Amino acid sequence: MNIIVGKNSGFCAGVKYTISKTEEELGKTSGKVDCLGEIIHNKQVVNSLEQKGLRIINSIDEAENKVIIRAHGISRDVYEKAKANNIKLIDLTCPKVLRIHNQVEAYSSDNYFIFLFGVKNHPETIGTFSFCGNNSYLLEDTADIDNAISSFKASGLKDLLIISQTTFSLSLFDEMSSIILNKLNSDYNVHVEKSICNATSLRQLETKELSAKVDLMIIIGGKNSSNTKKLYEVALNNCKNAISIETKDDLDLSFVKSFENIGIMAGASTPDYIIDDVCNAIKQ
Ligand code: SF4
Repeated sequence: MNIIVGKNSGFCAGVKYTISKTEEELGKTSGKVDCLGEIIHNKQVVNSLEQKGLRIINSIDEAENKVIIRAHGISRDVYEKAKANNIKLIDLTCPKVLRIHNQVEAYSSDNYFIFLFGVKNHPETIGTFSFCGNNSYLLEDTADIDNAISSFKASGLKDLLIISQTTFSLSLFDEMSSIILNKLNSDYNVHVEKSICNATSLRQLETKELSAKVDLMIIIGGKNSSNTKKLYEVALNNCKNAISIETKDDLDLSFVKSFENIGIMAGASTPDYIIDDVCNAIKQ
């Protein structure tokens, strides 16, 4: 049996930074730190930080201590509420997400209409959309394009920015942007900003390549992790035997045993030890 683990598997730089800063804060404050939402989409890592004293809160109204802002970032109104209530924030928003917040704000004040591609209920998308201003439309897939274009035309604006969530699908981004460009005539000026982060692009491209040459592709990551779901979709497009698991406990080893060449890729919130556990379980 041949097992190939994708070299872009596991924690991205943004997640590594978030976890190390959180551990540092927990050390300084003897565990008196709140985090707005799950710190990363991995329940094993969240449980371990909770044991060290991290408290997950679902709204800024529940804050009792300093509040960690995770890599996904937050909405403008949450920043405002924290400021109004003197809540100290430890802002660990990934610089790549912050860059998009700044870009959409700048384009919006230059009178651009903004199309934001993203998963509608994802915290990063909700946060970014709050910086887009009123002349904006959130699109999850091609089904949203016609309404988005009607809304843009009704605004009377002529300039359009297309931008996306950092973990959006590369292929869907290209497909949606080219449909939009084809539907708008030369009266409109469209700027396409491919804002999918490098860690996400490399992971999706490697998943595509690896899944095309193995018999079984295993994607490891949290069930509510957006980037893990995208990897699974990419894998399934290229390998009919693609499965998505959170840990080795989700593996059906008798099924896995029937394959000769196995590829493994893990989402940005999956720690190395979970990837190692899966490999060891298969080897054994
Ligand atoms: S996936 Fe990209 S944008 Fe998100 S935290 Fe990691 S590096 Fe930052």
